[in-house]
Amino acid sequence: MDIQRAERLKLLPPYLFKEIDRLRDEVRSKGVDIIDLGVGDPDQPTPEHIVESLRAAAGDASNHRYPAYSGLDRFRVSAAGWYKRRFGVDLTPSSEVITLIGSKEGIAHFPVAFVNPGEVVLVPSPAYPVYSTSTLLVGGKPVEMPLLKQNGFLPDLEAIDPATAKAAKVMVVNYPNNPTAAVAEADFYQKLVEFALKHNIIVVSDAAYTEMAYDGYRPMSFMQVEGAKEVGIEFHSLSKTYNMTGWRLGFAVGNAELVSGLGQVKSQIDSGAFDAVQLAGITALEAEQDCLEDLRQMYTERRDVLVEGLQGLGLEVEKPKATFYVWCGVPKGMKSADFTMRLLSECGVVTTPGNGFGSAGEGYVRFALTVDKKRMAEAVQRMAKLEM
Ligand SMILES: *Cc1c(COP(=O)(O)O)cnc(C)c1O
Repeated sequence: MDIQRAERLKLLPPYLFKEIDRLRDEVRSKGVDIIDLGVGDPDQPTPEHIVESLRAAAGDASNHRYPAYSGLDRFRVSAAGWYKRRFGVDLTPSSEVITLIGSKEGIAHFPVAFVNPGEVVLVPSPAYPVYSTSTLLVGGKPVEMPLLKQNGFLPDLEAIDPATAKAAKVMVVNYPNNPTAAVAEADFYQKLVEFALKHNIIVVSDAAYTEMAYDGYRPMSFMQVEGAKEVGIEFHSLSKTYNMTGWRLGFAVGNAELVSGLGQVKSQIDSGAFDAVQLAGITALEAEQDCLEDLRQMYTERRDVLVEGLQGLGLEVEKPKATFYVWCGVPKGMKSADFTMRLLSECGVVTTPGNGFGSAGEGYVRFALTVDKKRMAEAVQRMAKLEM
């Protein structure tokens, strides 16, 4: 039998982190002690009060049936309440909030609802790969907006070619940013709303990292600026904030028509997040948030060890204000992939090459702050032996 995958799959690059995992396992199988700073997956457990909440909810048979497509009403009320407390944003839970099976699920399904074949989606470069691959899967055309250091890794809206702006249906932004760790402020978001209204472009804001920030900095939400709800939708995730990546729980908020379109697609494809997981999610959002302060402290210490170490090696890198990534320039004359390979084969340190996130990521590697500070110091020591 001749089995051929659909043409659309041939458009996709291999999923970046799958490929890195393969290389890591290959080196590890040779007996190398690997320090994995590759994938952005928190190494710490989910806080106990959240786990306990799931245990209780999992034992309740009323949670065992199909969930509601758009999510538990109680979860959506809770998410709206959290947006109000955290950002001062008012949301109507029944129409402006939808539960997701992790924000990746929602981000990947969004183009199914809003992008026709041939339509342009403006995506950042470098970026979380799902924005462009989900566009490709529906026959849309991702057009990269380079995030450059001289612009604070924000897209230069004025540099977008007018014909491209006219053709664009959707623009994706992500702050605090993966992989550059850059942050956005109100002035950028205000210009973004103006741009979106002028060109009739839907704004997708991926806000997975608003709670991972340091030195007292509190990132804002796109939804805080006037007009955001008219043009956009914002994706939020419990994954990174509460060490819940494996639980698959996120939500989207914003324009009711955008939320409802996404919900229409989801009702045909999945049947919602497990009610017990949503109930534990309520616990995460509504309980005392002091566990987050401890996590921030922990990442701050790791960040300082890594960044000060890398600076000591003469690399171009700054302490991030937010996210658990460090975006580091590669040594002069080297490519991202060369540096990543040398870090892996000569130091046993896994990183992600910047160009894997898009062509404008060339010249950088991303470190994730996913090992304790002792191991981080060990990683720096090993790198100090590299001839660069
Ligand atoms: C991790 C990550 C996500 C996905 O998070 P889930 O809610 O676990 O699906 C989305 N966007 C960015 C930028 C991420 O880094």
